[in-house]
Amino acid sequence: MSESYNADKETFMGVPRKEIPWWPTIDYDKCDFCMECDKFCPHNVFVKREEENKKLIVKNPYNCVVFCRACAKICAPDALKFPEKRDITKLIKKLRAEKKED
Ligand code: SF4
Ligand code: SF4
Repeated sequence: MSESYNADKETFMGVPRKEIPWWPTIDYDKCDFCMECDKFCPHNVFVKREEENKKLIVKNPYNCVVFCRACAKICAPDALKFPEKRDITKLIKKLRAEKKED
């Protein structure tokens, strides 16, 4: 990840990144805290929290690349979930249409 990354300024398909709710959520009933997802993802989305019960959290959700699901594919216990792509596509289209009307 570039040091200059600033989620406040990022856009995806013309929509501010912060208006797009795409990031992994962790199923703590399944996660075994192997940290493979954190090692794999280059975007600093996850962080390990030794001091908390939940050792792994999604710290920077807006760093996640919209429509990427790569970490879910390497998670052996299938603990990472994403929103439905079609729902997010629909939302992006709606937001784009609203911006054109402005
Ligand atoms: S790869 Fe899956 S099981 Fe391993 S820490 Fe990440 S979410 Fe948890
Ligand atoms: S979906 Fe892609 S960008 Fe998002 S956390 Fe997983 S590997 Fe990183």
